[in-house]
Amino acid sequence: MGIIDSVRGMFGADERTFQYVCDRCETEFESSKSDMSAVMCPECRSTKIRAASPA
Ligand SMILES: [Zn+2]
Repeated sequence: MGIIDSVRGMFGADERTFQYVCDRCETEFESSKSDMSAVMCPECRSTKIRAASPA
């Protein structure tokens, strides 16, 4: 248990997700890609997206 938790902690720190909002349909989604130009809206497949403002 303890080992799994510490391993998860190690990898979890590196595995960031980024919040995006589609500029077209306003769908909010997250992606592990930090490069916004490589991210596509899962709903309408638009590439016109913006970073979601942090809550
Ligand atoms: Zn969209």
